[in-house]
Amino acid sequence: MIPFLDLKRLNEPYEELIALATQRVISSGWYILGREVDAFETQFAQYCGTRHCIGVGNGLDALTLVLKAWDFPAGSEIIVPGNAYIASVLSVTLAGLTPVFVEPDPETYLLDPTRIEAAITSRTKAILPVHLYGRCCDMNPINELAHRYSLRVLEDAAQAHGACYQSKRAGALGHAAGWSFYPSKNLGALGDAGAITTDDDELAGRLRALRNYGSAQKYVNDYIGHNSRLDEMQAAVLSAKLSFLDTDNRRRRELAQRYLTDIMHPDLVLPPADQLIQDVWHLFVVRCSRRDAFRAYLYEQGISTDVHYPTPPHRQQAYPSFSQLSLPITEQLHREVVSLPLNPTLTDADADYIISRINAWT
Ligand SMILES: *Cc1c(COP(=O)(O)O)cnc(C)c1O
Repeated sequence: MIPFLDLKRLNEPYEELIALATQRVISSGWYILGREVDAFETQFAQYCGTRHCIGVGNGLDALTLVLKAWDFPAGSEIIVPGNAYIASVLSVTLAGLTPVFVEPDPETYLLDPTRIEAAITSRTKAILPVHLYGRCCDMNPINELAHRYSLRVLEDAAQAHGACYQSKRAGALGHAAGWSFYPSKNLGALGDAGAITTDDDELAGRLRALRNYGSAQKYVNDYIGHNSRLDEMQAAVLSAKLSFLDTDNRRRRELAQRYLTDIMHPDLVLPPADQLIQDVWHLFVVRCSRRDAFRAYLYEQGISTDVHYPTPPHRQQAYPSFSQLSLPITEQLHREVVSLPLNPTLTDADADYIISRINAWT
């Protein structure tokens, strides 16, 4: 069986380095907000090309804390892609704000800049582009609109570690970016972890307080804060793994290239290949109108697949108030998308097998 993702195998090449890193933390006797978090924040900011990185507990908190830090009036509107992962939408409502869904570009699955302007109202305060599946949104037109209407831009970069847009990295493409280091991400911790990157000094200072009870100085609370700190153990693991991110992403690209050139099936729509080198292929997502049959066939052949995601946020029970919305492109994507196994542990033989089984499907 080729699993969709085997986290043990994914971390095997780094086990020794991870053991050294965690032993260093154990021996230090310092477990929260210390040298390891400082070091990772410095390295990751440098990697992304931003002035600041603020480590937090997870990706959802990263997005939520930025929206809270911006301190918009309650009920302000935030533009999000209709086909976002639920976390992007949750961050908006947890911050007391209102998501306004915009349909994605059906070719790239990303927020469609040509549809944003019609969704802007006098209450709109920010745009939240999601770099879904490891490909950056088309940020020039998004930033231009944001500038024209005085909106903030918050990147959801949780699937885009190392992805590029023109000459810049994800995380440096808006006013701030939220990151997740959930174990399955391109840069994954051994538990929950997240971060925010930004060039904004004032915002960074506020976020450092907000992640730690709203306190910049012990027992002095300037804001109603959260407890959402990246811990020393996860920071040490992430520092150990960061230097291999580019190598891992290169392997993902090689595999994506093979799928893109060798998968040939009239019932499958492959993802766009025009930015192969810029994308980091967090997921390799194809579309198929006979999705259930396709997945069942691959499973019989010993190939596990996944669906990202089966239900769009506006159709989740958590949000009954959005259930009447009609987002036909989003809804069709959610009916058709299938993620094939693609990660650095996949061998050339695995890829050959997956391609040959897919091409033989009738
Ligand atoms: C994983 C993910 C998140 C949330 O990250 P957590 O660390 O699980 O909270 C947010 N947005 C996107 C697009 C994600 O893939």
